[in-house]
Amino acid sequence: MADRKKLRTILDSLTPRESTVEKLNMDPIAFPGRYPDLPDREVVALIAASFAFGKVTAIMGAVEQVLAPLGPSPATTLQITKQSDLKKLYPDFRYRFMSHEGLVAFLSGIREILLTSGRLSAHVRKDAPVESADNLFRELLSGSGNEIALRSSNLLADPKRGGPAKRWMLFLRWMVRNKFPDFGIWNHLISPSRLIIPLDTHVLRISRYLGFTMKTSPSMKVAREITEALAQFSPADPLQFDFALAHMGIDGICPRNRGLRRCDICPLQEFCLEGRMAGNIESKAGRDFQ
Ligand code: SF4
Repeated sequence: MADRKKLRTILDSLTPRESTVEKLNMDPIAFPGRYPDLPDREVVALIAASFAFGKVTAIMGAVEQVLAPLGPSPATTLQITKQSDLKKLYPDFRYRFMSHEGLVAFLSGIREILLTSGRLSAHVRKDAPVESADNLFRELLSGSGNEIALRSSNLLADPKRGGPAKRWMLFLRWMVRNKFPDFGIWNHLISPSRLIIPLDTHVLRISRYLGFTMKTSPSMKVAREITEALAQFSPADPLQFDFALAHMGIDGICPRNRGLRRCDICPLQEFCLEGRMAGNIESKAGRDFQ
């Protein structure tokens, strides 16, 4: 228990505070933070989280490209812009596997949802499982053409494939957690205790080093396993340390390449299986958290 308390304190020290807001500049969560109106914040969060794959600088550039033509109120612009005109806004857009057609399909799907109520949150089904957009927006995604539009964009995960749905989980973390750096505007709709960690390669790797999982491949099952391990620190808010874990890798504090790591000055070393090997010290990882 004392070990868990110490690891919790260290993870907490790695979590950003309002006073260190510049830490967010190289994270896609910076985008929804620019929009004070909630309909815009929801839409921008869905767009930014959906593009959270690849290198951070490339993600930031791609999201800027998508948002620029939508002006100061993306939710309003999407509602008043016909699909045929949306195509004209992004004539040369391309980002990794995302084509111009996929982007237009994705934005058209969001547009259709907004046209029915003006807010994404108006369609969240409170008691639904959180694993996928299909669950939360089921009525809107089925039978209206939106599902085809959104799926064809490749920007929403297909829950049938068993993947961790990382970008969807990231979107939900931003919307549901009401502690910095997240926005908590759906906190009354979904309990933070139901969230599942947005499992990317960084989070999976660091979680393995800390003994939260033994698995090497990302899946929804592994995301749940890591979330359960983190819930031991904070059952009501298991994603409290998601940002800290992800940014150990994103910020290069713990790069994949062992030769580039500085385990000797890493605050996690005594709890880290890799850090123990690097420093030849007894690790506390895996004792309390598996
Ligand atoms: S101790 Fe080394 S391997 Fe472990 S998290 Fe820190 S930098 Fe990474």
